[in-house]
Amino acid sequence: MTSACKVVLITGASRGIGRAIAVKMGSLGYTVALNCRSSAKQAEEVASEIRAYGSRAEVFVADVTDVTSVKDMFDAVRDRLGPVSVLVNNAGVVKDNLLMRMKDEEWEEVLKADLTSAFYCTREAIRDMAKARWGRIICMSSVVGLMGNAGQANYAAAKAGLIGFAKSVAREYGTRNVTVNVVAPGFIETDMTRALGDKYKEDFLRQVPLGRAGRPEDIANLVAFLASEEAGYITGQVIAVDGGMIMQ
Ligand code: NAP
Repeated sequence: MTSACKVVLITGASRGIGRAIAVKMGSLGYTVALNCRSSAKQAEEVASEIRAYGSRAEVFVADVTDVTSVKDMFDAVRDRLGPVSVLVNNAGVVKDNLLMRMKDEEWEEVLKADLTSAFYCTREAIRDMAKARWGRIICMSSVVGLMGNAGQANYAAAKAGLIGFAKSVAREYGTRNVTVNVVAPGFIETDMTRALGDKYKEDFLRQVPLGRAGRPEDIANLVAFLASEEAGYITGQVIAVDGGMIMQ
């Protein structure tokens, strides 16, 4: 199957890492389904950028923490573009707090957005992939899911949970030629990290051998490879893109 025949759905594609993945995949000829929750205007701008490459791109507004919205989104993508061959579970949020102060809602919101959303989307995507005997699922974890981070117990739990989830699905669907891998970004320049402030950034970057923050494109390049035919014998892996920060 050439990339032009393949539909890639990227959750959280209006900004940051998801946006860079969408543009990269569009530049490679994939048909791109861009999901976002509220910033539809920004997502439409990304879709226009992709169309300039001659690739198809459409925006699907849906809250991936809502099971009915996810089902409706997959039905709409199937109707308008075709079945999803490559799913990138990228949408995520942070709600940082120290454990003793962490509210139930902060825990639940992050677990839903960063982990349950991947379960909902993967469950919808897997049937078509298994039927086609070809599929790629890529989950966006974080180095925080591997090493923990003070003030991010909710986020670390969700991102570590994604790793166990991905490895289990990789084992279940390997014989159907569906690969499932995890990308663990370090500190990447996006709205998410800009909100953390300069002091946090400086402390984080002190731990990075390459001495700089990552760019969304650094993540998109790996996602494009994991989605390719060439990566067909790689599954159940966690790959950090972190400037050497954790060196697993
Ligand atoms: P970002 O700039 O804050 O963008 C988040 C994206 O997720 C937006 O497109 C947002 O859409 C979407 N989103 C959030 N909740 C959603 C929901 N319930 N339903 C649908 N879409 C939703 O984040 P980012 O930095 O690019 O991060 C992308 C992913 O990488 C996240 O999973 C994050 O945890 C992970 N990550 C990031 C870093 C980093 O340094 N930036 C490091 C490690 C891991 P709207 O605009 O419509 O809200």
